[in-house]
Amino acid sequence: MKKFGFSMPTKILFGPGIVREEGGALALGKKPFLVTGKSSARRSGAWDDVLAVLPGGYEVFDQVENNPSVETVRRGGRLARAADCDYIIAIGGGSPLDAAKIIAVLAANDVDPLDLYTEGWSRRALPVAAIPTTAGTGSEVTQYAVLTIADEETKKGLGGFDLFPRVAYLDPRYTRSQPLEVTVDTAVDALSHLIEGYLARRAAPASDFTALKGLELWAENIAALKAGSFSLENRASLLLASTLGGITIAQTGTCLVHALGYSLTYFHGLPHGRANAVFLAEYLRYTETVEPQRTEEILGLLGLSSPEDFGELISGLFRQKLDNFSLSKAEKRRYVQKAVSTRNMSNSRGEPGLEELMKIVEASVKS
Ligand code: NAP
Ligand code: FE
Repeated sequence: MKKFGFSMPTKILFGPGIVREEGGALALGKKPFLVTGKSSARRSGAWDDVLAVLPGGYEVFDQVENNPSVETVRRGGRLARAADCDYIIAIGGGSPLDAAKIIAVLAANDVDPLDLYTEGWSRRALPVAAIPTTAGTGSEVTQYAVLTIADEETKKGLGGFDLFPRVAYLDPRYTRSQPLEVTVDTAVDALSHLIEGYLARRAAPASDFTALKGLELWAENIAALKAGSFSLENRASLLLASTLGGITIAQTGTCLVHALGYSLTYFHGLPHGRANAVFLAEYLRYTETVEPQRTEEILGLLGLSSPEDFGELISGLFRQKLDNFSLSKAEKRRYVQKAVSTRNMSNSRGEPGLEELMKIVEASVKS
């Protein structure tokens, strides 16, 4: 019998208007440091709701770029410390949410962000309230944050129990202002978490439960994703599916799809979800050989009968935009080398090595 744990310390508050209704839970201290991107907080409506319930003064850091860099969190950490803030409110997609978590660590620990990867940190991070405006990363309920590390030419995740946000406000209305491309990119990231989480070595009964429910919810939105038209109900179930994906990977971690995707974002600027999308169908073709039952269950929940059908679904969702994406042989070899040394590989079932990874990449991307 499999032994397992299940850790989900984040308080989740869900529903349209929830920030104003449950504003009391947002005040995790005396003075917040508001972390966000360039425009998503304001465009989504989250900004006005947060300011309406904040009791006092606050400091703003609205400089988080997509796939946040070490420099950005370094700067944010310094500003949060200098402003004497004692908690963080993060508003936006996964990029501001992840940056906010590291800023929360740096505000409490006067160290360089790069050293966190090797030394960890000793003082507890400031508490974080997370308000997602995309439905994809699930960062609002994970203990992870991903930074772009220029020195290593990759993106790299950091994990720690105090990176779990203290509270997550999920208001599906905030995801309505996303451009269609961002909606699709992020929805496929959520799908990737649910699939990789269900197929991970670390999967266990409790994470299977959240993964399967998330897949079921995600599948209800396939027609809307294809049509590019979303009701508030669609937005709500995609957001919930994304949060269930986050809860799942908080237990299981991700697998080789994420490991490969990072290079497509770093070297070719593909948005995170789209980068995962490139490899998902071939990953399922591979897992069909090493984990047929789970792979069939996933396909069945999505109303599909084969990895080929899955590939067509992805191609349709991205409106053939991915069909012309190509990589040279040398690029493929390089990205495989980078992925093969990550922990994601040992979490992938079937013990895939260099050869299997290369096969997946060859079959996924034209040369
Ligand atoms: P993102 O990089 O946060 O945002 C993408 C774009 O969408 C940005 O231009 C953003 O604008 C815009 N946007 C966000 N919400 C919007 C809204 N409601 N209306 C209009 N525009 C909006 O995208 P993401 O996919 O959510 O996050 C990706 C990052 O999360 C990656 O770095 C990835 O590695 C990480 N990630 C983390 C975890 C985890 O567990 N921590 C898991 C998976 C992925 P702004 O410029 O205003 O921000
Ligand atoms: Fe992801």
